[in-house]
Amino acid sequence: MHKTVLLTLLVVLSPAAHADLRVFACEPEWRALAEEIGGDLVSADSATTALQDPHYIQARPSLISKLRRADLLICSGADLEIGWLPQLLSKANNPAVRPGQPGWFEASSFVERLDVPGRVDRARGDMHPQGNPHVQGNPHNITRIAEALAERMAQLDPDGAAQYRESALDFLSRWRQAIDAWEERAAGLRGQRVIPHHKSWVYLQDWLGLEELATLEPVPGVPPTAAHLGELLHVLGDAGDGADVIIRAPYQSDKASKWLSERTGIPAVMLPLTVGGSDGATDLFGLYEDILDRLLEAVP
Ligand SMILES: [Zn+2]
Repeated sequence: MHKTVLLTLLVVLSPAAHADLRVFACEPEWRALAEEIGGDLVSADSATTALQDPHYIQARPSLISKLRRADLLICSGADLEIGWLPQLLSKANNPAVRPGQPGWFEASSFVERLDVPGRVDRARGDMHPQGNPHVQGNPHNITRIAEALAERMAQLDPDGAAQYRESALDFLSRWRQAIDAWEERAAGLRGQRVIPHHKSWVYLQDWLGLEELATLEPVPGVPPTAAHLGELLHVLGDAGDGADVIIRAPYQSDKASKWLSERTGIPAVMLPLTVGGSDGATDLFGLYEDILDRLLEAVP
């Protein structure tokens, strides 16, 4: 009898009984990064999948209960989630993950934001008033965010601090090697002229030296219109020699990119915007690998 009690106590008090750091990620790339750094110390969920537009989702009850139990919220921020996160936070009523708390981690605040507008005209529908939120397009941004995230996890879960820092060092060493290899592969893409559907790729363009000629959306967040596409066709000319590739994300309709591609001969390609967006994008490494595979195939 005494032996049983002692054994039970040992099991309860042993390090294996360490409670998980519960991570609520707004987008799959941050769930993937949390798992790279947190390993078996974290349990992570993502509010959106790679096949959903992160600007728009429903605040489902299952998400509210996950957010209520979360220790750490990781989102791109810069108003990417403005359409659904405030409502979710209010319903979840979890003080630990409110803005300004250690449990609130806004990934885009750790990198240099691009497209910060001088003057925002919300009436025209511009949905990037804090600068462009799609920061995962540049793997160097992931480096900075990973460093900050490891420190945040160590702060929230001091027992695991050494492990978070060690995992981050291991991840970053593999990550820097991967970036070197990607930059070598992508050297030929420099100067290619792209037409993305939405302004989802400004950080990728900045990284690879791609030139954005126009977007299929007339303004970020406003779906392509016949008038805008007609104008693009007019400017590009029937020969289509004014651009090299049209880009869309998996959750965007291919109608507009197909329409323009068929009339101009400019190749249209789907690129995964985050982990899970294609068969190859199984983790953060696969994401960039697959983006480059697809771009290099479209633009030989
Ligand atoms: Zn956007």
